[in-house]
Amino acid sequence: MKVLVGAKLINGTGGPVVEDSAVLIDETYIVAVGPRASVELPPDVEVIDVSGMTLMPGLIDCHDHLASKGYDLSSRWGLNEPISLQHLRTAYVMAQTLAAGYTCVRDAGGLDAGFKMAVEDGLYPGPRLVNSINIISPTGGLADRVSGSGHSHSHDDPRLPSGIADGVDGVRIKVREMVRVGADVIKFATTGGASSRPGHGPKDIEYTLEEVKALVEEARSLGRKTMCHAVGGQGLRNAVAAGVGSIEHGCYLAEEPDLSKMMADKGIFLVPTFEVYEYHSTVSAPHMQARAKELLEVHQESMQQALAAGVKVVAGTDAGGFVHGDNAREIELLVARGMSTTQAIQAATSWAAECVGLDREIGTIEPGKLADLLVLDGDPLSDISVLRDQDKMMLVMKGGEAFIDLLPVGEPLPV
Ligand SMILES: [Zn+2]
Repeated sequence: MKVLVGAKLINGTGGPVVEDSAVLIDETYIVAVGPRASVELPPDVEVIDVSGMTLMPGLIDCHDHLASKGYDLSSRWGLNEPISLQHLRTAYVMAQTLAAGYTCVRDAGGLDAGFKMAVEDGLYPGPRLVNSINIISPTGGLADRVSGSGHSHSHDDPRLPSGIADGVDGVRIKVREMVRVGADVIKFATTGGASSRPGHGPKDIEYTLEEVKALVEEARSLGRKTMCHAVGGQGLRNAVAAGVGSIEHGCYLAEEPDLSKMMADKGIFLVPTFEVYEYHSTVSAPHMQARAKELLEVHQESMQQALAAGVKVVAGTDAGGFVHGDNAREIELLVARGMSTTQAIQAATSWAAECVGLDREIGTIEPGKLADLLVLDGDPLSDISVLRDQDKMMLVMKGGEAFIDLLPVGEPLPV
């Protein structure tokens, strides 16, 4: 057993911090937590001094694309590099994301099941993965890859089955196909987005209410949650009405205030992904920039309205098209858009764990949870940007195993 002593503890629940804490770990699990004086230590425990630092749960990104490396057509279609190099880049990104303090990632499309197997088999380091495999959308929708010249990108690769499905029967079959190739969660789209093709924008609908209901019901019957790309308009309304697990983006929610209340009543999470819109509004192709700039103000209002209605707003970056490893920029943006630092930390820990369906295992520093935790040289409650600073990340532990350990080696402490 080992014990981390002396840190200021943020347990992820939003409750009061504990100064001079002790967190006792038995190999992979947390067994006791509290003020140092209250935690009884077994003989021969390894004592690790983390005085003056902050201890908190490992971070969770509810919306990432670990296998994506850009928005240009050739990288999106995987044409510019050999497949082996693409995979090695993805492996690098997994380790990079874990090093940034992210002990769990929900991948929102593009990652085949092998990466999760590799992490679980200990072949390569990476966050715990909740995987969607590929995005489901109708013909002409988000997942239907067609170039400006009208070329369609064929999907004859069994690792990532085509995401295109139409009609009530079609979406049911597609959900079964995704589960067959290892999907832990079902990702689908009911609207276009900032990055979708010209002529198909954030408020353009994909799927009827009947199709969305059938898809959600099929996923539920197979024990899978759903995460729905829905930016605005009727498609967003259909997703909320059908009771999806989480609304991804939801930028135009504030235009229809009854939707926030419906989301709160149904326990639907909101993943606003501010980070990707920051990118789209400044760097992306002209039609993407225009869309992202247009929604900037209402997006912030949407988050605030949802939060006030009682919706759990969680951290998701939509990383992949623009950056990897700076996932905590999203947490900083949640604060900039109106969350308290305590809420923003919940959004990336306990609430996020609920959103991805792992709240019994991770998301808080409590007895019985897996020892997924961070030790920081700084206090994110007073300065949230500490979470982005790799040099302040003194310890990243996943399941009791240290991946990053920059703690000074001191004299063994008396127990
Ligand atoms: Zn995404």
